[in-house]
Amino acid sequence: MPAAGVASGFDIDQLISRRAKSVDASGIRKVFDLAAKMKDPINLSIGQPDFPVPESMKQAAIDAIRQDRNGYTVTQGIQPLLEAIWQRLHSEVGWTPHAHGTGVDMGALVTSGTSGGLLLAFLSLLDAGDEAIVPDPYFVLYPQLATLTGGTIVTCDTYPDFRMTAERVERLMTPRTKAVLLNSPSNPCGVVMTEREIKDLVDLCVAKGVLLVSDEIYDEFVFADAKENGRFPTPARYTRDCLLIRGFGKTYGCTGWRLGYAAGPHALIQAMARFQQYTYVCAPSITQWGVLPAFAADMSGAVAQYEGRRDLVLEAFRGVTEVARPGGAFYAFVEVPHRLGMTASEFVERAIENRVLVIPGKVFSHRDTHFRLSFATAEAKLREGLGILRGLMS
Ligand code: PMP
Repeated sequence: MPAAGVASGFDIDQLISRRAKSVDASGIRKVFDLAAKMKDPINLSIGQPDFPVPESMKQAAIDAIRQDRNGYTVTQGIQPLLEAIWQRLHSEVGWTPHAHGTGVDMGALVTSGTSGGLLLAFLSLLDAGDEAIVPDPYFVLYPQLATLTGGTIVTCDTYPDFRMTAERVERLMTPRTKAVLLNSPSNPCGVVMTEREIKDLVDLCVAKGVLLVSDEIYDEFVFADAKENGRFPTPARYTRDCLLIRGFGKTYGCTGWRLGYAAGPHALIQAMARFQQYTYVCAPSITQWGVLPAFAADMSGAVAQYEGRRDLVLEAFRGVTEVARPGGAFYAFVEVPHRLGMTASEFVERAIENRVLVIPGKVFSHRDTHFRLSFATAEAKLREGLGILRGLMS
C-alpha cells in the first residue's frame, strides 16, 4: 500500500461513468437546500401534499410492523393489494386481467413509487436508438429516462397551453418511436387533458403501433371543472393497449412510503417485474400493507381545498400575467411577463430575495420563461406569497 501522499494511481473520478457525470443534481433539490438555510421562507416550491396520511393507513402500516410483515414480499406485490388495484381499475375503467375472456392479457405490478414504475417501464421498452416522446415542460425524471435506459427522449413542445395534443405528437413520430408519455394532470402545469384530446392521442398511438404510457400520479387531484361526466379523463377508458402508472404518495400524503403501481399489457408488466426482481426486489412491505385501506379513504375534502387554492392563484395573477388553468394536481406554471425584460431564473432569484421560493421553469423545460408554483401550502402563506409575487410583476 503506498504511503499517504504518494500518488497511488487511484482516481475515483476516472472510475465514475460518463452516464453518472451527465446527471446534474435536480434543480428542485437546489431550491430545497436554499430553503433550509432561509429564515421564515414562504415555500411555494414543494411538490407534496400538506395534509396528514389518513388514520386508517397509518394504523395499517403500524399493524404490519407489529405483525412481523417486515420481510420481502413477492416481486409482483402482495395479493390483497393487487386485488384492491384490480377492483379499482375494474370499477373505474372496466379493466380486468382477462381482457378477451380467456387467458391473462393484462397485468399489474406494485412498484417502488411512481418513479420506480416509470424506470422499469422504460427499461423494458427502450433499446439504444429507440425513441420515446415526452411533454415539455416535463416532470424532471422524464429526460433522465434517456440517461438511465440508453434510449432517446424526444420532447414535445406544448407551449403556450401545455396540452400534449395528437397533432403536436404526430409531428415528432419516427419509425423508432416506441412510446409516448402522457402526464395529465401534469407536473409542472396542472393541466388536465380533455376526453377528446386523450381519445385522439390514443387513436394516433394505436394506429402507429406505439405504446401510450400514462403517468397518472395525480389522478385523484382533478378539480370539478376538469372532470367530464364527473370522471377523470384517462386513456384507459378507450384502450387496454396502454400502460397506466399511478402512485399513492401524492394522493394520500405519503410520498415517503415509496409506493405506486403499473397496469397494462401482461407481457410488458412481466418484463418490468423481471427488472424489479434484480433491482428493487419488491416494493416496501410495510407500506404495501399500509395502503390497503387507501382506496376506501375519502380525499374529496382535500381535493376541494386544493381547488379553492387554485382559484386563489388564478385570481392573484389576473391582469398581470398568463397562467394556464390548472385542472388538477397542485401546481401552476406562471409566465414571467415579457415587459419585465428578465429570464424566469432571474425573476426567481428576485422572488427568493423576497423570501418566496418557487422553481424556475428551466428545471422542467428547455425554456426559461415561466416558474412553477406549488399551492400545497397553508392558505395564509399562499396568500402572502402570491401577494409578493404579484408585487414583483407590477
Ligand atoms: N410523476 C410525476 C408527474 C410526478 O410529479 C412525480 C413526483 N413529483 C412522480 C412521477 C414520482 O412520484 P413518486 O414519488 O411516487 O416516485
